[in-house]
Amino acid sequence: MRAQIIDGKAAAAEMNASSLERAQRLRARGIEPHLAVILVGEDPASQTYVRSKEKACQGAMIRSTVIRLPGDTAQETLLEKIRELNADPGVHGILVQLPLPAHLNSDEVIEAIDPSKDVDGFHPMNMGKLALGLPAPVPCTPAGIMVLLRRYGIDPAGRHVVIVGRSRIVGRPMDLLLINAHATVTVCNRLTPDLPGMTSSADILIVATGHRDTVNASMVREGAVVIDVGINRFEGKLYGDVSADVADKAGWLTPVPGGVGPMTVAMLLSNTLDLAEQRG
Ligand code: NDP
Repeated sequence: MRAQIIDGKAAAAEMNASSLERAQRLRARGIEPHLAVILVGEDPASQTYVRSKEKACQGAMIRSTVIRLPGDTAQETLLEKIRELNADPGVHGILVQLPLPAHLNSDEVIEAIDPSKDVDGFHPMNMGKLALGLPAPVPCTPAGIMVLLRRYGIDPAGRHVVIVGRSRIVGRPMDLLLINAHATVTVCNRLTPDLPGMTSSADILIVATGHRDTVNASMVREGAVVIDVGINRFEGKLYGDVSADVADKAGWLTPVPGGVGPMTVAMLLSNTLDLAEQRG
């Protein structure tokens, strides 16, 4: 392997230590930082994510309340729950674990969250602010990737960044953050012609498709920075979206696990504290 590893676990540990100090400072002022998480249904991956978020909150002395609702919860019941949390002055951040069961309208649910408590930064008002380069809560996964790049001295300014995937939680906000950071950005989707041509022109390549081996070594420029966002479970093991052979060609690489994943949770804590500090 020639790629240098971008260690998300170490970066997240540092960030979590600083989050603990921030939480202690808030508590000393009588403010208990508080994240409310709504989980609808029994999706096993969502349950795992919510448990890891709860555990991380505990470690940083952030109160977390998980509201577990049955899979057949009605839209109006969910909206009412969000309104209650919006009105509760003791709650600083609200997160609705996605994906929601198919009968629920996620757009309406996200819009119901008070933008000043929108810890995931998915509310259209906050996405709009991000697009304009204004301060707003930033979606955790792309925010974590920006922190990782900074930590390793990788400045996207003036570089060509290719993002494979255009989801609302990863690809699109990633695009906005990188544009704001003066990168030249190409965002690919399933219909992008000549994906290998695109990816091999990247100085920094970010892959978030949800499919193993979307990108292999032949699709990567020698020495490129490769950020693998994917989390794919197969026979009890975790795999990213890029193939193992990329490690022999890239200059920098995020491992899976231990790369982007831990940073996503670390950013959630940091975003919660931002909102608590703003309110306090
Ligand atoms: P989505 O399914 O919402 O989006 C996937 C995107 O990838 C779509 O835009 C899709 O294109 C595109 N895509 C899929 N296959 C290809 C292909 N062969 N060529 C080009 N584009 C392709 O996924 P998410 O963004 O939610 O998640 C992506 C991955 O990141 C998943 O593995 C997920 O588990 C992981 N993830 C990891 C996180 C972490 O903390 N590490 C956090 C969030 C997600 P189109 O729009 O045309 O359909």
